[in-house]
Amino acid sequence: MLKSTREIDNMLKKHDSYRNGCLNLIASENFASEKVRSYLTCDFGNRYGCYSTMDPADREYTGNKFIHEFEMETHELVKEIFKAKYTDLRPIGGHMAGMSVVLALLELGDLVIEVSLSDWGHGLAGPMCQVRQFDETINVEYMAFDENRAVDTEKLIEQAKRLKPKMIIFGGSGTLFPEPVRELRELADELGFHIAYDASHVTGLIASGIFPNPLEEGADIMFGSTHKSFPGPQGGFVVSNDKELMIRVGNTLSPSLVTSHHLNRLPALAASILEMKEFGDEYGKQVVRNSKALAKALAKRGFKVLGEGKDYTESHLLLVDIGEHVDFAPAKFLEKANILCSDDFSGNSPEVRIGTPESTRRGMKEENMEDIAEFFKRLIIDKEDVDIVGKDVESYARQFTGLDYSY
Ligand SMILES: *Cc1c(COP(=O)(O)O)cnc(C)c1O
Repeated sequence: MLKSTREIDNMLKKHDSYRNGCLNLIASENFASEKVRSYLTCDFGNRYGCYSTMDPADREYTGNKFIHEFEMETHELVKEIFKAKYTDLRPIGGHMAGMSVVLALLELGDLVIEVSLSDWGHGLAGPMCQVRQFDETINVEYMAFDENRAVDTEKLIEQAKRLKPKMIIFGGSGTLFPEPVRELRELADELGFHIAYDASHVTGLIASGIFPNPLEEGADIMFGSTHKSFPGPQGGFVVSNDKELMIRVGNTLSPSLVTSHHLNRLPALAASILEMKEFGDEYGKQVVRNSKALAKALAKRGFKVLGEGKDYTESHLLLVDIGEHVDFAPAKFLEKANILCSDDFSGNSPEVRIGTPESTRRGMKEENMEDIAEFFKRLIIDKEDVDIVGKDVESYARQFTGLDYSY
C-alpha cells in the first residue's frame, strides 16, 4: 500500500522511464507537450462549471466568471479548426461524446449502421445493446468494407436504401481511408437519416487539413477524442453546423451524462489547438508520410499489410495481418519487446494496428520506419529472441525523447 507521496513520485518516475524506452506505436495515444500538460494542474480542475442544456451562460454554480469566459474562448478555437458553427466540450472523452449523439438523435426502435468491432469499429451503438435497456430499443447493422479495408460505398448505399436507418456513424479505430460521406449525403436527405462522424482517431489529421473534414463533406454532426492523432489532453468534443441537433445533444449531456466536465482540460486543449494551428500542417503530413513509409517497409519484408491496392493508408495508422507468421494475437507479445501497438482486443484476430502519431512527434521520419519494420521482421518472421530484440528496441526508443511540432 502507498504510504507517502515519495512512493507515488517514484512510481511515476518508473513509468516515465519505462515508457521512454518503449516504441509507442499505439494509434490512439500521443505525446502532449510540457506546456499542454502544465495546464492540467490549474485551478479549473477543482471547480464546478456545469451548465444544463446548451446554454453555457447559465452556470449552475457561482464563481465561474472567468471559467465561462475561458470555455467560450476555447469554443471559438474548436469551431475554427473544425469549421463548425457550434460545439460542446463537456464530454470528457470521445466515447461519451458519441453516446451523447446516439442518445440525443435516436428514438426507440431506430436503426443505426456503424462499423463493426471486427472491422475495428469502436462500437457506440452495438456494445451499448449489451445494456439491457438499450437492447430493447436500438437496432444495429454494420457497414461492409472492401478488400482494401475501405468502406464499400456501393454496398452501403444499397444497405441504406434497403434498411432505411435513422443514422449512419462513420469512423472507427482502424480508419485507413476517408469514408464516403459526400457519396451518402444525397441519400441521407432523401431517406431522412443523419450522418454522424466519429473522428476520435483522425481528429488531429482533420485539424491539420490532411484528412477531409466530414462536416464539409456533408456530415450532420462530428464528435471525437482530443488525445489520439490530436496531441491534446484526454477529452472529447461534439461539433455541428446544425443548432437544432446541438440543442438535443446538449440536453442529453446534461442532465443525463455529465455534470462536472473536468474543466482543467480546457486550457490544455486551447494550448494544443494553438500548437496545431502553428505546426499542425507539417505534423499531419509527416504522420501520413510515416504511416505510408512503415507500411511499405513492412510489405517489403514480407508482411501482409492491408490496403495494398490503395497505397496502404491515408491516415495515422496501418493494419498488418500477421496470421501467416504466428498464431497468437500480437500486442501482448510485442509488448515483451518494448513495442507498444494494438490488436483488436478480441484475442483472436491476427491483425495488428500500428500508429505513427507519437513516434512522429518524438522526431521519427521515413528512414526510421525502415528500422521499425526491421524490428517487426526480427520478432515475427525471423523469430529472434524477444529479450534480445527488446533491448535493441529500448536503446533505439531512448534516442527519440525530444518533441517536434510543439511549443
Ligand atoms: C477511442 C475511440 C472512442 C472513445 O474515445 P475515448 O476518448 O477513449 O472515450 C470512440 N470512438 C472511436 C472510433 C475510438 O477509436
